[in-house]
Amino acid sequence: MSEEESKNGDAAATVKEDPKSSESDTKSAPTSESESGSTADLAKQEEEAKKEEDAANKAVQEATQKAEETAAAAAASAEAAKKREEEEVADAKLKKEKEIEDKKKESSEELTKRLQKLALERQKENRHDRLKVIQSDQTSHLSSAKTFQDLNLPDYLLKAIFEMGFERPSAIQEEALPRILANPPRNVIGQAQSGSGKTAAFVVGMLFRVVIDTPATCQGLCVTPTRELAVQIFQNAVTPMAAHMKGLKVRLALAGEQIARGTKLDAHIVIGTPGKVVDWLKRRIIDTKKIKVFVLDEADNMVAESGHRANSLLIKKQMPKSCQSLLFSATFPPEVIAFAEKMVYNPDKILIESGPEFLVSISLHFACINDHTPFI
Ligand code: AMP
Repeated sequence: MSEEESKNGDAAATVKEDPKSSESDTKSAPTSESESGSTADLAKQEEEAKKEEDAANKAVQEATQKAEETAAAAAASAEAAKKREEEEVADAKLKKEKEIEDKKKESSEELTKRLQKLALERQKENRHDRLKVIQSDQTSHLSSAKTFQDLNLPDYLLKAIFEMGFERPSAIQEEALPRILANPPRNVIGQAQSGSGKTAAFVVGMLFRVVIDTPATCQGLCVTPTRELAVQIFQNAVTPMAAHMKGLKVRLALAGEQIARGTKLDAHIVIGTPGKVVDWLKRRIIDTKKIKVFVLDEADNMVAESGHRANSLLIKKQMPKSCQSLLFSATFPPEVIAFAEKMVYNPDKILIESGPEFLVSISLHFACINDHTPFI
């Protein structure tokens, strides 16, 4: 082969190769139309891939959020369950403590009642503590009451008295109650120390006279020298004794108790200290017209404080003429007798026979009154 031929041959070879190369070019280098088509496909694919990725991301995000929420809810419910459990434990503990406390209270109340009963019994048996009654009206046939049933009390009071655990009247009650509950009502001065059962005597007296009306009119007024005593009377005597008197309204007249100006008191019974009672009387908060029973407790302590003494006299002056007055005092030195005489008109007197005050009071002040002592 000549050089030319060999060149041509090469050329031919080259030419021969060309169709191949052009064929492969056709495949790898498309026309501009097919080119743009495949770019669009690619973009679409890319877009779809992106969408898929986004969706996957979103799903992951949602799943994570849901998992977090589920975990949080589980934690919250576990926390709530724990709290509930703790509360239940605390409740059970409280209940147990209350049960123990109630049992203790019950047995201590039981013991107190038994001791009180014993003390009241002893008081009756003890010759020195026996009572002497000086009746204002010697023609009266009132006598002592040995049982609560003797007193013809309404059922709602008798029931409450027995529920309080009182089986029989105490010494002062035996003598005072028939007079306090008499019709027409009797004024009474009673010598009675704390522990004698005098509170129940005058509380029964007030509750016996009250007629429950609406709006409530004040029908019983009890004045005491201290706020503690007023609260005690309210809590330990009036509240249990009025347990079956639906609608009964009682108001404490004590420093700090507020009543709006121009408002009338909506209460059947008022228990308070002299200063506050005078304040409410002056401001016409208490309407005195319907008051049927006026009680003055611990008169000796009232007299000991000049302010109380003066206020008690002011209160007494405001009471209606027909109002029954009951005065109790542990002791009767002359100044208390003088005070009692101003406070209570023409009373029956129930005095401790052996006390020196009794002798003084009999000889000096009550000498003119006929002695009626059927039970000594
Ligand atoms: P007082 O003398 O009013 O302070 O009462 C003393 C205690 O005796 C109070 O706790 C009353 O509940 C109680 N009491 C009053 N009357 C009776 C009674 N007839 N029987 C038993 N306890 C009574």
